[in-house]
Amino acid sequence: MNHIWTPWRMKYIQGDAAERACAFCLAAEREDGQENLVFHRGENLFMILNRYPYTSGHMMCVPFLHVSKLDDLTSEARCELMELVAKAVRVLSDVYKPEGFNVGMNLGSVAGAGIADHLHMHIVPRWGGDTSFISILSGTRVVPESLEVTYQKVKEAWERVD
Ligand SMILES: [Zn+2]
Repeated sequence: MNHIWTPWRMKYIQGDAAERACAFCLAAEREDGQENLVFHRGENLFMILNRYPYTSGHMMCVPFLHVSKLDDLTSEARCELMELVAKAVRVLSDVYKPEGFNVGMNLGSVAGAGIADHLHMHIVPRWGGDTSFISILSGTRVVPESLEVTYQKVKEAWERVD
């Protein structure tokens, strides 16, 4: 019996499996709605609520492509990313009236990325005193609103706000 040496095939299979197991790739495939938490689809990226929000309204901007580097995105996709981030800040300002924002990416697991293989930008509304001593001591996050309510508010505002 002959064995054909096909290392590229293994790479292909592993890459494929990694994409299937990726929460962002799964979200990109599923139908939008409250369970999926996807509330907007652009040309190259989509907007999704964080299932484990740091504060109410914590959302992410995610490319459809399963890529880990900014250089893997086209220039157009990077421009669209910043346009979506700017709109996310407008929408969250409208809905939650936060006093500030954290906007950023953790590139690589050493930098704290939860899903390191699929890059994503976090947009987190902040209020003075939202990091209470409870969360500092125990890691508990104080989120006063359910994801279902956040989804309805954000989706409505995304359609309404320019
Ligand atoms: Zn992915």
